Amino acid sequence: MINTQNTAPGIPCPTESCDHKIKVSLEDLLFQKVVKCPHCLVELTMNREASKETISAMAELHNALENAESAKTFTGNSVRYP
Ligand SMILES: [Zn+2]
Repeated sequence: MINTQNTAPGIPCPTESCDHKIKVSLEDLLFQKVVKCPHCLVELTMNREASKETISAMAELHNALENAESAKTFTGNSVRYP
């Protein structure tokens, strides 16, 4: 069995006694105002300004994953620049 808990992408829970990560998808970051830690149920308000870097990092990852996906059906160039 593989435990992906520690390597799963997410925001570390701000509660000191809780070492869970709050899983946040790109969609959550973009569209949700509040995310909840499933462990201690603390609510995090998304601050778009403060998490700008996180959002752009996740957007890049998202794009990279999509590129990787399309690269599979692509012979030759793995990366295309528009
Ligand atoms: Zn928590």
